[in-house]
Amino acid sequence: MHVLVVEDDELLGDALQAGLRESGFAVDWVRDGIAADTALRTGEFSAVVLDLGLPRRGGLEVLRGLRSRGTHVPVLVLTARDAIEDRVAGLDSGADDYVIKPVAIAELAARLRALVRRAHGQGGGALCVGDVTLEVATRRVTFRDREVELNAREFDLLRELMLNSGRVLTREQILNRLYEWDRTLESNAIEVFVHHLRRKLAPEIIRTVRGVGYLMPRDDGPRRGG
Ligand code: CA
Repeated sequence: MHVLVVEDDELLGDALQAGLRESGFAVDWVRDGIAADTALRTGEFSAVVLDLGLPRRGGLEVLRGLRSRGTHVPVLVLTARDAIEDRVAGLDSGADDYVIKPVAIAELAARLRALVRRAHGQGGGALCVGDVTLEVATRRVTFRDREVELNAREFDLLRELMLNSGRVLTREQILNRLYEWDRTLESNAIEVFVHHLRRKLAPEIIRTVRGVGYLMPRDDGPRRGG
């Protein structure tokens, strides 16, 4: 897979190029918006890693130009942790995904692979809800740049909630699905797994709908206090 990295920060660009190469990607690196435009008009890329704050031409402008030319190459936007508006603007302008700086190469590589798979009509490889990414094939879960260790039951519960994000799942629905692979679950098992997921990820990722079940909100929105 051939990736174009657009990043003006020398240290970060260098790290991205080296890290992605180590992860098996072929990488071209350009350092400003004009060079990115030129590369995208002339080259063939599987995916683009795009910083937004760029000299000569901003990342959003590069992105809009790309989409206005009818090019569908997957674009992953790099964004600062607190720049929620950038993130929204990026997605509105045709970005396919985003990663928050500082970048974890493993997560970036995983997301790029998922984007490329999706672009090739092999969706279902990765689920993304809010800051949580779950790779079905490798059973890998990341939350805000860090990998999260889940046991099989926690993983399956999280996957169910992500597949149904924005909808309430009743305890019965969840139990039925988890029973498929384990008939020895205790009656309070769901509560226990939900507790584990909240502790390992963040309390707000799963909402309790009292008397009904659980809900994973589609997007947590901006976070306070860092
Ligand atoms: Ca920059």
